[in-house]
Amino acid sequence: MNGIVAVVGRPNVGKSTVFNRLVGKKISIIEDTPGVTRDRIYGDVVYNDYKFHLIDTGGIDVSKELFNDEIKIQANIAIDESDIVVFIVDGKEGLNQNDYVIRDILKKSGKKVIVAVNKIDNPKRFDNIYEYYELGFDNIIPISGEHNIGIGELLDEITADFKKVEETDVDDDRIKFCIIGRPNVGKSSLVNALLNEEKAIVSNIAGTTRDAVDTPFTYEKKEYVAIDTAGIRKSGRIYENIEKYSVLRAMKAIERSNVCVIVINAEEGIIEHDKHIAGYALESGKAMVLVVNKWDTVQDKNDIKTFTKLIKEEFKFLSYVPIVFLSAKTKKRIHTLMPEINKVYENSKKEIKTSLLNDVIRDAVLLNAPPSYKGRRLKIYFTSQTGTMPPKFTFNVNSKGLVHFSYERYLVNQLRKEFGLVGTPIRMIAREKIEKNEKSNTK
Ligand code: GDP
Ligand code: GDP
Repeated sequence: MNGIVAVVGRPNVGKSTVFNRLVGKKISIIEDTPGVTRDRIYGDVVYNDYKFHLIDTGGIDVSKELFNDEIKIQANIAIDESDIVVFIVDGKEGLNQNDYVIRDILKKSGKKVIVAVNKIDNPKRFDNIYEYYELGFDNIIPISGEHNIGIGELLDEITADFKKVEETDVDDDRIKFCIIGRPNVGKSSLVNALLNEEKAIVSNIAGTTRDAVDTPFTYEKKEYVAIDTAGIRKSGRIYENIEKYSVLRAMKAIERSNVCVIVINAEEGIIEHDKHIAGYALESGKAMVLVVNKWDTVQDKNDIKTFTKLIKEEFKFLSYVPIVFLSAKTKKRIHTLMPEINKVYENSKKEIKTSLLNDVIRDAVLLNAPPSYKGRRLKIYFTSQTGTMPPKFTFNVNSKGLVHFSYERYLVNQLRKEFGLVGTPIRMIAREKIEKNEKSNTK
């Protein structure tokens, strides 16, 4: 990922239209996963070799009681949280006072700003854009969100300074884990409790990035970095506790981590927003641990069963993720967390011997043959592991069209069970064997 791009603008200029245009209608895996819900305001954009997150700040509900100037708050969120701002103005109506309010805020930020003059539905109207230079920004692009005009140019400009997506920190052996969750679930308390454990030796002063506090430490001779998203609080920011906004922090931290520790609050149970955050962790392909914090507030200790059941229902898509019940406040069972982080990390890196892998697949197929479809049946010729973090398996099959979701899930579950792949997502890719050219194919 190359960071976060925010779409800002006064109401009705076409932010949502442009957002949808940029994100496109691509179907992500996550939408097919039962129980995963997504926030409409966040999307991932893949363009050429670049990938970035897009936020529609207009979709962030800001309680009127807290603040009555939504535009200002949106612009501030965009400035604080994004790397590039796409400032949308209305090419039909022209500029008005609210555009200048946003302009002033953006100007002060020093961020890269691209002005997209929207509703230029006809290239003849390209001439209309000159008045917009008055805003004082150099990057001005005429577009039409509705008619898909200028979107490629906008994407070129957004990605102009991006680095190509590449593996980050490949030489870094440290286990980097982020602590994510909604506001007040106890993320900071948990990090503090962990670092204060006897076994934890904090190596040096915490490094601070714009979005999180990174604390390197050693725990039983292994090196870790704790990424605490709640660690930096810009005091006085009204949107600090806006739940939708907390997702942004989580998204950025997830990217820099190998393991996501998703914290929920036993006192309050699971709410929709917990699922949004967990959904992003899942989509990232990172290993995961679920922490039920504030367990001290739960009186009846039999509730572990009830709570586990609830979690399995509410987070169906995380059924393979270990759950830790603890209290950051009383430190009860705090020592059970690091071993789980370790375990899921090791699992996500696991490399499985090809012969063993094929044995397991063969047995799985014998046990439960693929269903036939229109007289044809899926055949799996050969399976190999083609990636780690998360483990990725490529199946050579007779026809990709015969791979059904439920059968794929069955195979993934078998692999998970046989190789103990707890806590890590598993990716599966079907590849069609080219039978005709098989002999001439030297590879
Ligand atoms: P937002 O409030 O900024 O998110 O704006 P919306 O995306 O909801 O769009 C506001 C209105 O402008 C809607 O009626 C859209 O159909 C319209 N609109 C958006 N993009 C274009 C465009 O490129 N051309 C024209 N003519 N109308 C557009
Ligand atoms: P964050 O916003 O997720 O970082 O949450 P904080 O760590 O700031 O904690 C939010 C509130 O929950 C604070 O008042 C903490 O004292 C409290 N808290 C955190 N962990 C626990 C816990 O294990 N038990 C109880 N009872 N309270 C906790």
